[in-house]
Amino acid sequence: MAGKVYLVGAGPGDPELLTLKAIRVLKAADVVLHDELVATEILALVPSTAQVHNVGKRCGRKSATQAEINALLVNYGLLGLQVVRLKGGDPLIFGRGGEEIEALRNANLDVEVIPGVTAALGAAAAAQIPLTHRRLSSSLIFITNHHSSAATTTDWPASISPTATVVVYMPGYAYAATARQLVAVGLKASTPCAIISQATRPEERVYKTTIEKLSSAPRLPAPTLLVVGEVVRLAEHASLHEQFSTHNATEEFLPVVAQLEPFAQGQGNSQNSERPW
Ligand code: SAH
Repeated sequence: MAGKVYLVGAGPGDPELLTLKAIRVLKAADVVLHDELVATEILALVPSTAQVHNVGKRCGRKSATQAEINALLVNYGLLGLQVVRLKGGDPLIFGRGGEEIEALRNANLDVEVIPGVTAALGAAAAAQIPLTHRRLSSSLIFITNHHSSAATTTDWPASISPTATVVVYMPGYAYAATARQLVAVGLKASTPCAIISQATRPEERVYKTTIEKLSSAPRLPAPTLLVVGEVVRLAEHASLHEQFSTHNATEEFLPVVAQLEPFAQGQGNSQNSERPW
């Protein structure tokens, strides 16, 4: 009998953000293929008899190609095993989960997806940033600065509303180019933004700045996310107290919510010759 393959979200880092369903499936797994970003406490849930493969992509270490991962999933599934593909965050957000589902469907294997807390939600919770806000943000955009396939590049939308919150996955460290791109799509240079590093883990840090000052931001340890939008003014985190200890944070960042100027809708141009990816 053919097995079943579960695409499971491991969440952004904190093992307590795992779903009960994910725990149940992990505890019954015969084989686990996991990403690099998955916490060891989560892998400890897997039975000691199960085969565990790290297929993660990480600089400096050879990782499995997507075709190899698809083949492993299909082959283990055809052996009749309970296979778990454990992915950071949510399996269907910037995780190539769609390609894996397609390969499994083509092999007539049963697939079940178990969602996870995506990094944007973990990071927003960590920094207490409301991603939407009745007065400040009426839409939410998840975007990536990086494309996993070398053959193609990512295109951002031609324009982004200044009342949107933008979460940039895989922002990299080319901050000046990212800042230019954000302005090119219509955001004001004064828009606040935050780099959130290792969200929901003990090492988590938040650095708050604006698009115009982004280029001088420190390179916080990966994984990082960039959150951009007026809602970032509301961010609060212990590491921000260090960042602003030399001047008055209240004056600079706080009471603006009620007095924000009406937003001017900017028109952007995504054909920036200096692409950040
Ligand atoms: N499927 C994942 C995203 C995979 S792309 C999800 O839903 O979250 C990997 C990117 O996610 C990283 O480059 C980083 O931008 C972001 N990321 C993942 N975990 C993170 C964390 N704990 N803190 C900050 N960013 C994180």
